[in-house]
Amino acid sequence: MPAPMPVGGLTMASFAFTAAVIGNAYYQKRQFYPSVVYITKSNPSMAAIYLLAFTLVILLGKLLKKVFFGSLRAAEFEHLVERSFYAVTETCLAFTVFRDDFSPKFVALFTVLLFLKAFHWLADYRVDFMERSPVITLLFHTRVSSLLLLLSLLDLVLVNHAYHSTITRGASVQLVFGFEYAILLTVAFNIAVKYICHTVDLQSQNPWENKAMYLLYTELIMGLFKVLLYIAFLLIMIRIHTFPLFIIRPMYLTLRSFKRAFNDVVLSRRAISNMNTLYPDATPEELTAVDNVCIICREEMLTGAKKLPCGHIFHASCLRSWFQRQQTCPTCRMDILRQSPPDPSTPHPSTPTTTTTSGSAPTTTASATGTTTDTKSL
Ligand SMILES: [Zn+2]
Ligand SMILES: [Zn+2]
Repeated sequence: MPAPMPVGGLTMASFAFTAAVIGNAYYQKRQFYPSVVYITKSNPSMAAIYLLAFTLVILLGKLLKKVFFGSLRAAEFEHLVERSFYAVTETCLAFTVFRDDFSPKFVALFTVLLFLKAFHWLADYRVDFMERSPVITLLFHTRVSSLLLLLSLLDLVLVNHAYHSTITRGASVQLVFGFEYAILLTVAFNIAVKYICHTVDLQSQNPWENKAMYLLYTELIMGLFKVLLYIAFLLIMIRIHTFPLFIIRPMYLTLRSFKRAFNDVVLSRRAISNMNTLYPDATPEELTAVDNVCIICREEMLTGAKKLPCGHIFHASCLRSWFQRQQTCPTCRMDILRQSPPDPSTPHPSTPTTTTTSGSAPTTTASATGTTTDTKSL
């Protein structure tokens, strides 16, 4: 957790410093207006004012964090620090291209961007955590839904502002801001879809079979949007300035996660179609041999059970949602896409033992692997 001491100390120091600056100015000039002029003309005095402004922004950020997230988990804080480090270095690199625009207003805009990014990341962690969290309170829903609404609105307004500024006043640093906010908008949309899917899933009695599929496709479409945004930004930057070195790392990560989302969709579709066309329905005798229990949902199998090439039997509907996340047998972990189609002439394999999987429900172990995609590419 972040130590409260440095911020407290910084706040006190910057308030004291600013008070001293104002006191000194008034002592020298004795009147309001000349004092203001005196302060704005003096670099050390302005530095004190900026420091105070910066401190107030940090305090506001902490307050908003408290309002929307409460306290952060240790893992969330670690992720935040790591990603902030990359975001700051990359954005600083980006702004070297537009160094003529450097001004206090610019520093303020940059700080706002960084804060908004951090809030997108935190919202993403919180929504991902929904699947593993035992209880989702009303407070959680209120916080997440209002935050997502607020973030999307801010992203939209800022993209719009950057667009109009670029159209009317020509290419400036607003181009970088506009691009960054467009990327954040896709992130906010992706989080919103995930949040809605998890909420629907939590409300229903039975696990939602196709949730993973919806999440996969959202990931894929948003990944495509991001790739297109990166390409457009790259082309614009090359035309008006120079090759933007600073987007190489995030662009590479975006391409990689898009490729991964694409592979996930292809593999899960192939596994499901294999199941529908190649794998036989389990016969009543086979079902009695395995105690009739499907280890995915732990319920009895009466009809609609499929036998995998390894001989293990599960509900077809359970296998379907399982294959959306990974393409292995839930019991023996055999890669079902590597396996050649079952040969009917081979003798029936020995009765499978379900003890190879530990007591934890397989669906929960799968959820972490299939749906978390690398979103560090912001
Ligand atoms: Zn089942
Ligand atoms: Zn198996």
